[in-house]
Amino acid sequence: MSQSAEETSTEPAACATHKAGFERVLWEVPSGRIEEKRRTEDRPGHPSREISVLGVPLSPSAGGRVMVRRDFLQGLLWFLSSILLSRNGVKRAMASTNGKTAADAAGSGESTIEGYDPSKHRYAMGIDIDKCIGCNRCVEACTTENDVPEEPFFTRTWVERYVIERDKSVHVETIGDGRAMPKEKIEEATILRSFFVPKLCNQCENPPCVQVCPVGATFSTDDGVVLIDSERCIGCGYCIQACPYGARYLHPKTRTADKCTFCYHRLVKEMLPACVEVCPTGARLFGDLKNRASRLVRFERSNRIHVLKPGLNTHPKVYYANLDGEVR
Ligand code: SF4
Ligand code: SF4
Repeated sequence: MSQSAEETSTEPAACATHKAGFERVLWEVPSGRIEEKRRTEDRPGHPSREISVLGVPLSPSAGGRVMVRRDFLQGLLWFLSSILLSRNGVKRAMASTNGKTAADAAGSGESTIEGYDPSKHRYAMGIDIDKCIGCNRCVEACTTENDVPEEPFFTRTWVERYVIERDKSVHVETIGDGRAMPKEKIEEATILRSFFVPKLCNQCENPPCVQVCPVGATFSTDDGVVLIDSERCIGCGYCIQACPYGARYLHPKTRTADKCTFCYHRLVKEMLPACVEVCPTGARLFGDLKNRASRLVRFERSNRIHVLKPGLNTHPKVYYANLDGEVR
C-alpha cells in the first residue's frame, strides 16, 4: 500500500486516543439530532428546526407536536439504543469485506483496527478525468471486494462514457459488462470529444441520505465517511430517493440500502480503497485531508477541482480534475 501508508504513518495512533475518538464517532451519529428536530416543532416562541432535504424543509407540521414527558423518555431510550447499535454499525463496516475480517488482516501482517483513531483523519477521493481510459477495472475490483451483486444496475461505483457531438448534443452511457446501458450508435465523424467519468458515493459533508433516514441507520463517521448500519436499516428506500447522485441501491438479498464506503474496512487497516489500488493509470487517488503531505492534498492544490452538482450544497468529498462542464 503506497498512498495511505505514507499518509497515516505520520500520526501513530494510541489505544487511549482511539477509544476517545471512537466515542466521538458514536456521538456524531445523527439519529439523536433528527429525533430532537422532529420533537421541537410547534411550540410557541420556539422556532422549529425541521428535517430538510437539500435545503428544502420537509413539512414542519408533518408529525410535529409538543414534546411531553413520555416522548422525552422514549427519545432517551431510543437515543441510548442508537448509540449501541451504531457502535455495531461502525464495527461491521470496519470488519466486513467479502469473508475477510480484521482478524484475517492481523494474521496477514496488515495493521489492525486496534490503533485506528477516526478523529485524526478526513478522507476524500480525487479523480483525474484526463487519466481515465474507461477500462472498468475499478468497477470489477469493487464488485469483488465488496460482494456487490452481479446483476445489472447494482453497483457501488461505475464509469460513464460521455460523448459530445459537434451539434453539442450529449450522450451518456454506463460502460462495462452486464451492467452496461444499451450503447447508442454515434457516427465517429460527428464526435467533438469523448471522455470517461468514474462515479461513486460522494461521501457528502452535508448528506441528504443521512437527513432522511428515519431510524438513523445511515450516519457520518468522524473521519468523514457515510456508512450504513445494515442491521438497523429497514429498507424503506428514503435514502435511495434522497441521494441526488444515484449512488445507493437496495441490496436484493439483504433488502437493505447499500453503497460505496470508500472500502472503510480497508481504510482502518491503512489500505487504499480497492478501486484506487487497481486503477492502472492513477486516475483515481485517495488520501487524508488532515495530512498536508498527502497525495490528495497535493492533487487538490495543483488542479482546478470540481464536484458534481455543486449547487445542491451537499459538499461532496469526491474531487474531480479536468471535469467537462457537460458532466452532471
Ligand atoms: Fe478509469 Fe482507472 Fe477505473 Fe480504469 S480503473 S476505468 S482508468 S478510473
Ligand atoms: Fe449520501 Fe448520495 Fe451523498 Fe453518498 S452521494 S453521501 S449516498 S447523498
